[in-house]
Order: sequence, then structure tokens, then C-alpha cells
Amino acid sequence: MGLEFVYAQPVKIFFGEGKLAQLGSVLDELGVRRCVIACGKHFASEAEAMREKEPRIAAVFGAVEQNPQLAGVIETTRLARETGADAVIGIGGGSSIDTAKFAAAIALGDGEAIDYYHGEKPFPADRLTIIAVPTTAGTGSEVTQVSVVSHGTEKRTINNPAFMPKAAIVDPVLSSTVPPRTTMNTGLDAMAHALEGYWSRNHQPISDLMAIEAVRLILENLEAAYRDGSNMEARANMAYASLLGGLSFALPKTAGCHACSYPLSEDYHLPHGEACAFTLDSFVRINADERLERLCHRVGLSGTEELAERIAALKQLAGLRSRLSDLGEVDLDKLAHDCAVHGLMQNNPVKMDEAALRSMFEKLA
Ligand code: NAD
Repeated sequence: MGLEFVYAQPVKIFFGEGKLAQLGSVLDELGVRRCVIACGKHFASEAEAMREKEPRIAAVFGAVEQNPQLAGVIETTRLARETGADAVIGIGGGSSIDTAKFAAAIALGDGEAIDYYHGEKPFPADRLTIIAVPTTAGTGSEVTQVSVVSHGTEKRTINNPAFMPKAAIVDPVLSSTVPPRTTMNTGLDAMAHALEGYWSRNHQPISDLMAIEAVRLILENLEAAYRDGSNMEARANMAYASLLGGLSFALPKTAGCHACSYPLSEDYHLPHGEACAFTLDSFVRINADERLERLCHRVGLSGTEELAERIAALKQLAGLRSRLSDLGEVDLDKLAHDCAVHGLMQNNPVKMDEAALRSMFEKLA
């Protein structure tokens, strides 16, 4: 069959150093009259300072945590409802953006967050405007219709057009304070998005282009951003790579490596990026084929083995956990089972059943 695809990308992207200072004109453009901010502790006082200067910011929920809990969504929704907000701004890593997305999607409904979380109530037809402002370079959540939220130990990924931001303000300056280890975790998450979008069974040509460029930028800039967080050229290139990574998996969706990240986060408490990185080099070897070889050549590598080695070296540089022995006591049967039954495993180009996953993990003993 000849070339055939459907491509759409609905988010208006404002990219550049210092862009957050133009929030007012973005609010004007989107017709926002009143909004609330959801952010983590690292940005809470800055968000309060923004509220003092910008009268349309009615309230700040400044306590979003890593692997965000539904409680943060409930609180953000309450603030949005009480203040009559017409927009929610998520400023932070994926955790804050995903909290903002969920709250914006349910604020105009009459149900409780838990009802929507468990799919017992359909998301309301109307929603608040979502503005995403990433402060890490990793998730690409600013351009996806995904929200990942936990309730207790359950971590749920919900895919819904209601979560798509209207605008993304990507200001690389905001990432200059990310600590080195989080820089590495999140940077490898972006690498996983690009590679998984590229090798997903649903890959498509425009997404592929962005994936290749994201991989190139990450290989050239992640180590520099890790070693010196104030290196703005590296930070800006990583912010761009993360955005491209988000765009490259937004339609094709991720695959085996992300499927494995869920049990690794839920049962062994690895942050999302570290959980993706845990199996990323293994999946590069497993999924090695002519297409992936072509990507490697386009980014200046000799082939897939070099790509796997570069990823392993980045993990080692930051001391990321990468062997089963780093995880404490591991129930290998459960781990292989939970990875095999995760829906994203179906997108992996090489079929991976429980036995194949067990053997992959055994090599990481
Ligand atoms: P995060 O949002 O959990 O942030 C990690 C830590 O870094 C937090 O403590 C945060 O407060 C801190 N932090 C963030 N920015 C900072 C900065 N500029 N300076 C100092 N500290 C800063 O991490 P993340 O990796 O960005 O997001 C992970 C979450 O996003 C996970 O829940 C993951 O499942 C989800 N995710 C969502 C999508 C999507 O499309 N919605 C895609 C991938 C991952």
C-alpha cells in the first residue's frame, strides 16, 4: 500500500526562553477571564507571585506530588469550581500538568473525581481551557491527551480528548532548576517517547520525523544538561526534544518499554522516567530492525547496538537503577505477568509474552 496517514496536532505551542512572561497575552488570545494554577512545591511561591501580578489568576493549588494522587485533582477541581474559573494552568512536570488536565476536564461536570477516574461517569461534554507549562524536559504531556493519576497504589493512564491542552508555553528557563538525577530521568523519558512512537505498531511518517530529531537532540544535549543545569543551550534543546518526543508518541502511542514502566513504578516505586529507562536499552536490542537501524544512522550512530550502549551509559552516569538487584526483592513472575498484560505491550513491534519478558528481565539480574 502507498503512503497513507492521518495527522492532527491541536495545541498552540509558544516556545522560547522567557515565554512564561507572556502568559497575559496567551490568556487574552484564548479569552480566559479567570483561571487557577496547579503546580508542585518547587513552583508554589512563584505561582503565588504570578497571582499577585495577574488578576485573572484566582487561586493556586501548589502541592502536586510526584505520581500525582487524585486528591490533588479533587482540590484543583474544587478551586476551579469555587472561583468560577474558565481555565486551568498546569505548571510543572507531567504530574502538575496531568493534575490540571484532569481537573479542567471534570470541573463543569456534576460528578466526583473518583467517578470519572473509574469510568463510572462519562467525562462532561464541556470543559475548561487547559494551558500546559512544562518545567521538566521529559513527559511531553503539554501536547498529549493523556493524564496519568494515581489513587492509592493504583496508577491509571486515561486517554481522552478532553485532556488536550489548548496551549502549551514551553519556556526552557523553567527547567534550569531541575536537579541532575531528575534531569536524567526525564530526559530518558523523552528518549523513550521518541523511540516508542517510532517503533510503535501505529507509527506514521510525520511523527517519525519528530522522533528522529528528538533522539538526535537528546543524544547531543542530555549529558550536558545533566552535568550543568545552567547550560541554557542544552536545556533549550532538551525542552524542544521533549516537546518533539511528546508529539512523536501522541498519535502512535508508546509500546513495550512504557508497558513495563507501570509495574516498575507501582511495585518498585521508580519515578516514571527511571522506570522507562530501566528497560529502554533492552527494548532497543529486542526491537532492532531495519527501520531502527535507519534511525540510528540518521542520528549519526553506527547502529542499534551503539544506541543501546549510549542509553546504558547515560543511566550509569546518573546512577539510575538498572538491574533487578537494585530493586530489592523482586517477584519475577508477577513482574513479567503485569508487563505482559499491560495494554501498551500490544503496540510493541516484537510480540512479547510473559516468557519473553521474563527472559528479558533475567538478563538484567
Ligand atoms: P514530576 O512532574 O513528577 O516532577 C518530578 C519532581 O521534580 C517533582 O518533585 C517536581 O516538583 C520537581 N520539579 C519539576 N520541575 C522542577 C524544576 N523546574 N525545578 C525543580 N524541581 C522541579 O516529573 P515528570 O517526569 O515531569 O512527570 C512524571 C509524571 O508524568 C508521571 O506521573 C508520568 O506517569 C506522567 N506522564 C504523563 C504523560 C502524559 O502524556 N500525560 C507522559 C509521560 C509521563
